[in-house]
Amino acid sequence: MAIDTLVQKKDFPIFNDDSLVYLDSASTSQKPIDVINGLKNVYERSNANVHRALYNLGSESTQMFESAREKISSFINASSSKEIVFTGGTTESINLLAYTLDTKLEENDEILISHMEHHANLVPWQLLAKRSGAKLRYLSLTESGELDLSQSEKYFTKKTKIISITHMSNVLGTVNPIKKISKIAKSIGAIFVVDGAQSVSHMPVDVQSLGCDFLAFSGHKMLGPTGIGVLWGALDMLESLPPFMTGGEMIETVTLESSTWNKIPYKLEAGTSNYVQAIGLGIAVEYLDNIGMKNIQAHEKKLTDYAKEKLERISGLHIHGNPSNRGGVISFNLSKIHPQDLAQFLNEDNICIRVGHHCAQPLLKTLDETSTARISFYVYNDSSDVDKLVESIQSTIKYF
Ligand code: PMP
Repeated sequence: MAIDTLVQKKDFPIFNDDSLVYLDSASTSQKPIDVINGLKNVYERSNANVHRALYNLGSESTQMFESAREKISSFINASSSKEIVFTGGTTESINLLAYTLDTKLEENDEILISHMEHHANLVPWQLLAKRSGAKLRYLSLTESGELDLSQSEKYFTKKTKIISITHMSNVLGTVNPIKKISKIAKSIGAIFVVDGAQSVSHMPVDVQSLGCDFLAFSGHKMLGPTGIGVLWGALDMLESLPPFMTGGEMIETVTLESSTWNKIPYKLEAGTSNYVQAIGLGIAVEYLDNIGMKNIQAHEKKLTDYAKEKLERISGLHIHGNPSNRGGVISFNLSKIHPQDLAQFLNEDNICIRVGHHCAQPLLKTLDETSTARISFYVYNDSSDVDKLVESIQSTIKYF
């Protein structure tokens, strides 16, 4: 049975080209007209720097900016909008932590991540480990592409001070048992950071029920603009962090000799924030809320199951991983065709897929690949996208 889109495709101007098959939302999502117009409206009617101007336009932009913070806060069920720190995206959010959490580390302490992390949740910790003398350890994966928690007592120890794990793998689609890891982290007194780049956009995420200390995510993957993202942190955790970037907005007082800091979240938002993009993200979150995150998750599951079944029938096609809980991402290789060649052939049919190492080189090494092909779904995909993909893969195979 055909699976329809969850939205009107005409909400997304990019699909005015109705031959476009966009299967790369794990990389970035397309934008609804409401978000595009929202940005335009701010620039045309309400633009003034936030938290500074004592004129109406300034109060209006500040009010819109802070209302976006409120919307995002309730979207992830934060206890307070003060817990929402605006950043440039997941990468900046995790770097912020890796630079400020060094006060919590001593030599020979341990930072625990996993073999399935995106470089954004790996390289910052490598550098922190070098700076602090802490050891970086990696949880390995099972054959099916899940975190191997069978020997957890070896990895989660009294030495473990920071744990940072992705909620959902951008390569295998694996959805990790975050609540379970939160409990282990609490029992050993470790700080638990979750990379939510692939989850916040695709499933209901409730930070209070997840039980982690920090969550990082990106606006551009959830129908919002580029250049905006979030670091959520439990208030006491955020308050315990020293400043990251310094300058305007993040200070309370400055003398020639020293400075004092503004309150959270402003202490961690130095300079003029990307307030227009934050307002755009607020609109995106409203759009997602109207669809319902449970519906989005169910829609992607249907599409993923449909695609998996069809892809598995193609001879010489190997899907990586078989996690019991998979989001809307499938990575695969063809036995005789390089992913790059495949992507070029699909492009001829206006089908967009991602190929390469997906910013997860250590994971690709464990898969024994240097490159895979990856498809990923969102609200505007339907089963005809999968049918066109499969047809195009089949004609590529014929050609070779
Ligand atoms: N983590 C994961 C799991 C991702 O998929 C991505 C983006 N591909 C990132 C982190 C980095 O996100 P951004 O580039 O938006 O900072």
